Amino acid sequence: MSKIEDFLSKEEEQEIVEAIRIAEQNTSGEIRVHLEKTSNGDVLNRAIEVFHHLKMNNTKEQNGVLIYIAVEDKAFAIYGDKGINDVVPDNFWDSTKDVMQSYFKRGNFKQGISEGVLKAGKQLKAYFPWQQDDIDELSNEISKG
Ligand code: CA
Ligand code: CA
Repeated sequence: MSKIEDFLSKEEEQEIVEAIRIAEQNTSGEIRVHLEKTSNGDVLNRAIEVFHHLKMNNTKEQNGVLIYIAVEDKAFAIYGDKGINDVVPDNFWDSTKDVMQSYFKRGNFKQGISEGVLKAGKQLKAYFPWQQDDIDELSNEISKG
């Protein structure tokens, strides 16, 4: 799984996009997935960089979440915006990370990302429930760097 284009098939990508759509029916939070070959250093620091590069800090409630995956490094990180970090416990993303890790270990990346996205949606629901007037503030498409 070295090349970023070969990491997921078109069908798998669409399943993840669909998972994001479903997850965002639970929460006003906005979830994105970004794939990159390597983070060239600390994976969380790179996730934060990408988060800002994608302008994910432009949500009304500052509740964007980036699931960042460095494919060649076999590493990933979850980064939530300030609105989330201000109200959730420090270990908030641990259960989501555990779900993803357990699938990744078995080489099932599509399932790991999809389940992670759905779990993140459920986690966010407690703090940022879906609202009647919800708009899709950030694209659900997977971005690649
Ligand atoms: Ca939304
Ligand atoms: Ca969205």
